[in-house]
Amino acid sequence: MAISRIVRWIRPDVRALVPYHVPDSLGFVKLDAMENPYPWPQELMNAWLTTLQSVALNRYPDAEARSLKSRLREYLGLPDDTELVLGNGSDELIQMLGLTVAGPGRTLLTPEPGFAMYRVIAEITGLNYVGVPLKPGGFSLDTHAMWAAIERHQPAILMLGYPNNPTGNLFDRAGIEQLIEACPGLVVIDEAYFNFAGETFISVLSRYPDVLVLRTLSKIGLAGLRLGILVGSREWLGEINKVRLPYNINVLSQVSGEFMLGHAGILEAQAKQICADREALYRELTDLGVEVWPSRTNFLLMRLKGRGPRVFQGLKEERILVKNLDGVHPLLEDCLRVTVGTPRENRLFYETLKSLLNPGSVFSYNSRP
Ligand SMILES: *Cc1c(COP(=O)(O)O)cnc(C)c1O
Repeated sequence: MAISRIVRWIRPDVRALVPYHVPDSLGFVKLDAMENPYPWPQELMNAWLTTLQSVALNRYPDAEARSLKSRLREYLGLPDDTELVLGNGSDELIQMLGLTVAGPGRTLLTPEPGFAMYRVIAEITGLNYVGVPLKPGGFSLDTHAMWAAIERHQPAILMLGYPNNPTGNLFDRAGIEQLIEACPGLVVIDEAYFNFAGETFISVLSRYPDVLVLRTLSKIGLAGLRLGILVGSREWLGEINKVRLPYNINVLSQVSGEFMLGHAGILEAQAKQICADREALYRELTDLGVEVWPSRTNFLLMRLKGRGPRVFQGLKEERILVKNLDGVHPLLEDCLRVTVGTPRENRLFYETLKSLLNPGSVFSYNSRP
């Protein structure tokens, strides 16, 4: 019987996992996953398709992705004494980190609320997971609580979102530096939103031999490509690279990534536009009386007191998909996270939200036939 063998053989910790759920978004205005909403200009699309014609799909990709890596090295302005490892998205790199250090009594420590995958990956790889609450109000780093947790758990890995998802803020740099000094393990600065925040630890990596920086091309506009980048010392990355499966970056991703880095200015201009639109939406939401936090990313976190889940549902019925964070963490009660889309999408979101908050309005979904 399948069931009895499952009970016997599937790891109990895997049996206890809840699968990571990604909602079907077909036909929705998709503002839930921090994607870049802009399509490419037609000439760029044509040039890309031309490049793809020379790809040999019958051959394995370059296991070291040399060409793409040297392009990335240049693009990221990496110091000569740093190394990089590529992942099938930064999610895969976090998984590699887990696989490299996991074992009984070993802990991944991170402030909460934070990126959901840290916990998922800790659980999958067999790391003990410890979350330390951020300060209520502005979601700043509680350095004292973090310091105490580091003393107590002696984490193998400290993960810090910089800026943090889903709160959107940059933690205080001096506070982070104190934690780097205090942590006995590896400190990973996750800079998934670098293109919107402009702040980085890459430039100071030589000062911190046990710090790695995590980047991704997903949020700038290549989420479908799955390309994550881990940057740091040769010594650390040499070890982490051993758990990487040889052909983890497929040939289409290698060629397309390299192509797009040659046109990164287009994506950077879009990021700049997104930041301006984020500020406009932030002001509109504030004027509407919505509690919304300042953001250094391409999303906004807001609280709709007493009606977060209801508003989420109302938006969904109007085919607008945002992220419902109510119930995810005590600090996120009634909170929704909305990705900044095109000006048109932002307007649609704003108008729909407004009508949901004012059910008398003609746009209310309740009053529509
Ligand atoms: C989106 C996100 C990632 C994952 O990005 P992928 O490269 O698409 O796997 C990692 N960290 C944070 C904080 C994110 O928000």
